[in-house]
Amino acid sequence: MKCAKCGQEVPEGAIYCPFCVAGGSAGEKEIIRGGIKGGLIGLALGLIPAALLLYVYGPERGIKAIAFAVPVATFTTGLILGLVKAKRN
Ligand SMILES: [Zn+2]
Repeated sequence: MKCAKCGQEVPEGAIYCPFCVAGGSAGEKEIIRGGIKGGLIGLALGLIPAALLLYVYGPERGIKAIAFAVPVATFTTGLILGLVKAKRN
């Protein structure tokens, strides 16, 4: 039988394709791991100013929105930076 992904001949009844496993998926995993790592670093960095804002100004409506938006933005930025960085390696 042929692998639907790469078109290589695969032994009948194989659970996974040895060509796909040996090829791209290991690199993909590294990239995802890099993205998660970057995102977590970004989240940690974003939580500090968010916590400070809440501590200084109290949980008012506008402050809450900002305190929520900051870690989300830093998480996203870290995620993208981590993905890009892992992709280059
Ligand atoms: Zn394959």
